[in-house]
Amino acid sequence: MHETTIAESLLGSAIKSADGKKITKIVFSPGVFSGIEKECLLACFNELKKNTLASTAELEVIIGPAELSCSKCAFKEQFDGTQKIKINCPKCNSQLNLKGGDGMLIKKIEVENGN
Ligand SMILES: [Zn+2]
Repeated sequence: MHETTIAESLLGSAIKSADGKKITKIVFSPGVFSGIEKECLLACFNELKKNTLASTAELEVIIGPAELSCSKCAFKEQFDGTQKIKINCPKCNSQLNLKGGDGMLIKKIEVENGN
């Protein structure tokens, strides 16, 4: 399953960068088009974290938005998956360009007693 692979690599990189310290929190930001099911990822993570340095870590998932921009006028909008995606500019009706939304970024890893 997609989410299992992601949870595994997420956990792997977090443990690597924690340098032997206990992980308390991980903030992960997959793009809106990454196809990640938040609930599913959380469930996988909570299963995989058992008996690791991240066994008590909390995973926060923040879906990263994509940006829609018009090449003809200055129209710009963030698309976060909660609204219907626009194809054409609402101001001048030109076709909109879509940027981003497909990345996967670990924003933050918090460890115990460490700043
Ligand atoms: Zn426009």
